[in-house]
Amino acid sequence: MRRHDYDLFTIGAGSGGVRASRLASASGARVAVAEERYLGGTCVNVGCVPKKLFVYAAGYRGEIADAAGYGWKVAEPSFDWPTLVANKDREIDRLGRVYERILGNAGVEIIDGRATIVDPNTVEVDGKRYSAERILVATGGAPEVPPIAGAEHAFTSNEAFYLPALPRRLAIVGGGYIAVEFAGIFAALGVDVTLLYRGHLFLRGFDDDVRSFLADELTKKGVGLCFNAPVTEISRDGEIYRVAYGRGRSLEVDAVMMATGRRPATAGLGLAEIGVNLDERGAIIVDDHFRSSVPSIYAIGDVIDRVALTPVAIAQGTAFASAHFGGHAPDFDYDLIPTAVFSQPPLASVGLTEHVAHNKHGCVDVYTSTFRPMRHTLSGRDERTYMKLIVDPKTDRVLGAHMVGADAPEIIQSLAVALRCGATKAQFDGTMALHPSAAEEFVTMRQKRSSTEADRPS
Ligand code: FAD
Ligand code: NDP
Repeated sequence: MRRHDYDLFTIGAGSGGVRASRLASASGARVAVAEERYLGGTCVNVGCVPKKLFVYAAGYRGEIADAAGYGWKVAEPSFDWPTLVANKDREIDRLGRVYERILGNAGVEIIDGRATIVDPNTVEVDGKRYSAERILVATGGAPEVPPIAGAEHAFTSNEAFYLPALPRRLAIVGGGYIAVEFAGIFAALGVDVTLLYRGHLFLRGFDDDVRSFLADELTKKGVGLCFNAPVTEISRDGEIYRVAYGRGRSLEVDAVMMATGRRPATAGLGLAEIGVNLDERGAIIVDDHFRSSVPSIYAIGDVIDRVALTPVAIAQGTAFASAHFGGHAPDFDYDLIPTAVFSQPPLASVGLTEHVAHNKHGCVDVYTSTFRPMRHTLSGRDERTYMKLIVDPKTDRVLGAHMVGADAPEIIQSLAVALRCGATKAQFDGTMALHPSAAEEFVTMRQKRSSTEADRPS
């Protein structure tokens, strides 16, 4: 006689929840997953996937212009936003059906609706109760909108994917991944964009040189960057919005986007009521094996607020399933996670920034290269590429690799393998270049300087 309806009940069919559910089911567990909105979660529906499709759309602007230098005569291009949105929607619908099939084939029962937790072994969806030996919370996050007067006039990334029309002038509030990516997308699609960031330089946490370099490149592309510009109020006058920021400054726009971070989606789930400990941002506090303070309740992905990236949520889902249904509990490793900001040009990084490397290892060696990509010798485009390696002089190990430039995410993904293997600078130098490529710069950098970053604030 089985004690529970399921061995595992997952709440949320996003990146993490789908992976954990599939693998647990494949190990023979009886698994259900509740999903209130869309299979595939944020990444597939209002995150990585539609964002990357928009980034491709944005890229054509420069590529069409570049073609002239190579002899192509192209008629004056025009862009149709509704076509892009409709085509993107079709692809997202297709992916939703793929996820449904994947879960079905794996034997996972999909339960449509919003789940709440009733007790440590019971979940309720639409008035129906289900018992489970383990409950996995994989509910992700949602845009966080600060309590600025008039913030209700702004849209977030969730709505950005469905705007009925492009605004002529747009203010984007924030200086993280989403603000920078959407500033690039909208600007390339013809919108007059101003990014308003409260700090002295956007993309806090990335390498300082890389941040400055990208700021210069975005400025060249016509993106308005206002730093030290905390927004104090958004007011509406008919169809126009006035954004007040800094000390008495303001900006008139046709729309405002808030890209001010995301908060873990735990509200109303019933967690605190049954003794699950949450941190001050509402994230579920878990141990190294994703167990919360209630032993039958686990959590993975953005809802635990560690590193909010899809591959991390997926890897956590894999680790959870392996630990609890596969008989093997590996330690989860948060080191050397590569990441990219899909700006124009993109920025990508793996490993330590110069600042962190300096603080952790003392004086480090820094190798940089700045150049005009060969492609733009004929295109005439004023865009440069930047690359940086941070090396520990004591061990010769490469501690960090950073790049701003075309294909940076693809290049840094490959370098992540090398860093993961503990590659030394000598091994980089001993690697034959692939010519002509941009990536070859990473194995031909010879000019070094010693880091003087000691206590520069990040
Ligand atoms: P999610 O994917 O958010 O899934 C959670 C699911 O739970 C959702 O489907 C939700 O509807 C469901 N849910 C919530 N509450 C309930 C409930 N009570 N009952 C039932 N269902 C519920 N990451 C990258 O690595 N690369 C990128 O390029 C990238 N781009 C991004 C762009 C944007 C605009 C955004 C917003 C995010 C982006 N991310 C990117 C981050 C990435 O999307 C997330 O890290 C990832 O989706 C987290 O997966 P998850 O499983 O934790 O949660
Ligand atoms: P981020 O955490 O990246 O950035 C949030 C930004 O909003 C920061 O610049 C922050 O400033 C600012 N901010 C926070 N609170 C306020 C406030 N009260 N007033 C004004 N500004 C504020 O969040 P995003 O929303 O851009 O993205 C959420 C997460 O999703 C990312 O951290 C990332 O993990 C993931 N993501 C990944 C992508 C990718 O992999 N390419 C793309 C998009 C999202 P400050 O720095 O000063 O705190």
